[in-house]
Amino acid sequence: MPTKPLDIQLNDIIQMRKKHPCGGDTWQVVRIGAEIGIRCMQCNRKVILPRSTFERRVKRFVERATPPEPLSDASPPSKD
Ligand SMILES: [Zn+2]
Repeated sequence: MPTKPLDIQLNDIIQMRKKHPCGGDTWQVVRIGAEIGIRCMQCNRKVILPRSTFERRVKRFVERATPPEPLSDASPPSKD
């Protein structure tokens, strides 16, 4: 089974496996493309990584800009 590409979105907050030299390990996604731009939440420095490198370094999502997949209970309010 092939691994799904990471469902990364603009403004997601992610935690990286390696800490930035400043000590921060959470980053905000500021650019999506063939390369991913992230900004350190601690020192505000911006880093551009090839998508493959980025995907290998991500540890987990801290906060999603938008939830990945709405579940079935996200139905509109009923009128009864
Ligand atoms: Zn930093």
